[in-house]
Amino acid sequence: MSLTILKFGGTSVGSIKKISNVAKLIKKHYTKKNKLIIVSSAMSGVTNDLIKKSKQISKNFDKFEYDVLLSSGEQIACALLSGALLDIGLKSRSWLSWQVPIITYGDNKSSRIVSINKKEILNYINSGGIPIVTGFQGISNKKRLTTLGRGGSDATAISIAKFFNADNCIIYTDVDGVYTTDPKLTKKAKKIDKISYEEILEMASLGAKVMAPSSVQDAMINDIDINIKSTFTNNDGTKIYNNQSKFNKNPITGIAFTKNESKITLLGVVDRPGVAASIFKPLADNQINVDMVIQNISANTGLTDITFTIMRDEVKNCVKILKDNKKISYKKIIHDDNVSKVSIVGAGMITTPGITYRMFQALAKKKINIMVISTSEIKISVLISQKNIKKAIQILHKEFDLD
Ligand code: ASP
Ligand code: MG
Repeated sequence: MSLTILKFGGTSVGSIKKISNVAKLIKKHYTKKNKLIIVSSAMSGVTNDLIKKSKQISKNFDKFEYDVLLSSGEQIACALLSGALLDIGLKSRSWLSWQVPIITYGDNKSSRIVSINKKEILNYINSGGIPIVTGFQGISNKKRLTTLGRGGSDATAISIAKFFNADNCIIYTDVDGVYTTDPKLTKKAKKIDKISYEEILEMASLGAKVMAPSSVQDAMINDIDINIKSTFTNNDGTKIYNNQSKFNKNPITGIAFTKNESKITLLGVVDRPGVAASIFKPLADNQINVDMVIQNISANTGLTDITFTIMRDEVKNCVKILKDNKKISYKKIIHDDNVSKVSIVGAGMITTPGITYRMFQALAKKKINIMVISTSEIKISVLISQKNIKKAIQILHKEFDLD
């Protein structure tokens, strides 16, 4: 017997007709030899709508009620999906996270799954049933409903795959899989057949909307193979594996970008030991995530400039924290919201020299100025003016033979 986890995203179950189609798709997967556990997200738009309602009721909507409210979207989708399966003659029932239960830890809004009770669901599978479990949520040890962060149904699917020791985990969504870059920016973007966890983790955290980075990390740690596929086509999708570098002939697998970052520069910072720590500590204390950082070599003046990037919606808060910080001295703070980070990602770059040069050269040829650079073993990111994104992606896509 094998066990497959099928997860359906919001667009896959976005209407009654789509839910009926998903039921037919599930029927194709279901055989005596292959048992299934289904995880569903809320119908598309529902979670956003619930958030809107919470804001209309109160500027400070209670954080526990927020999770109760948001988790309701999945309940609707799961009940409808279960009803659709029953309607085509399959045995099915839904499980809300607290009925399983799926136990979570940490703050609501961004809890993490720590354990899943398998007993009832296993019995049900063995009796020939198809359980449908609500994604994106759980219950804390204080018996409060919790949610796992936006897009958290992936995390539910991965955790179920882990705790039930599943053989397969298929993430059904509205795209064919992971693309070399956003097809909206170049028609030459291609679907990637196989990608490593490390690469997809970089792609996801660098702005490619494939899966939530924390879910990929979970899959990586637990060595769960994932297949990302479209609900609407029969195409093969993208497989996520360990250790792509072994079989990949291209040094670069994909190009990701962000559009929601800002660059902050502190000009004329007194250059002495501990100053960077004094700048960044209060930011960390306020949960502001700093991404790229550069510090210029100070001239004889003993002053230096420090530039870093953060999420755009934190700029106001960040500038205020910097201004209130009595431990640092500088001449001026400036910020630029019209920036974008473009990154090339590939496990193959570990063993291929000259990638950095090729990237910079290609951008230079198109007269695209690089403001900040950061690298890891398998990615190179540059910060550029937002108006150049499309041009940059197209030229890099070509340069690294992804066209
Ligand atoms: N429905 C939730 C959201 O929209 C969870 C998910 O889609 O995975 O964030
Ligand atoms: Mg979703």
